[in-house]
Amino acid sequence: MILKNLVVGPLATDCYIVGSESSKEGMIIDPGDEAEVILNNVKDLGLEIRSIVLTHGHIDHIGALKEVKEATGAEVTIHSDDAQALQKKSVNTLFGLSYPTPLPADRLLKDGDSMDIGDLHFLVLHTPGHSPGCICLLGEGIIFSGDTLFNFGIGRYDLPGGNYSQLMNSIHTRLMTLPDNTTVYPGHGPDTTIGAERSGNPFLQT
Ligand SMILES: [Zn+2]
Ligand SMILES: [Zn+2]
Repeated sequence: MILKNLVVGPLATDCYIVGSESSKEGMIIDPGDEAEVILNNVKDLGLEIRSIVLTHGHIDHIGALKEVKEATGAEVTIHSDDAQALQKKSVNTLFGLSYPTPLPADRLLKDGDSMDIGDLHFLVLHTPGHSPGCICLLGEGIIFSGDTLFNFGIGRYDLPGGNYSQLMNSIHTRLMTLPDNTTVYPGHGPDTTIGAERSGNPFLQT
């Protein structure tokens, strides 16, 4: 598997480019900003981007969506509960950042959907709490956790649509049930593992 992590934009969002070694098909997770950097990396990796997956609809994860979509022609996918973020300006005036021209999703995701990129297979987990339509993408021994779970941190639950008990429920029932050696690639900050978070994340201790 090809996996490239780019840190983009003023909120240091982790954008991931994931690709199949054999078919050279790929997906981009959270094109938050710096479209040119993302597209140059796609070119260097020699990937044909099939899908753009948004872990949720916050501006810091979708800022370069329009340019990346236009350059790659890839399908834009987001959970249905966050799809309004791609159309309603109000949701994305968060953080004082300007909002790009809205772009509707091509495919609405729900829990249990599969995301197949060449020989790579991922499963969509609906993990609300940070926002109503947050998803994680699980497969190939790794999970992209968006803003649900961070390295020794958890997502904010005080933004519009956020909910603390939902967030903790998502983390405990969907993520902490995974094997310890599952590598976690979050929406901000460095990667971690489920085992490291289980034993050391201060927000998960009871
Ligand atoms: Zn967010
Ligand atoms: Zn974020």
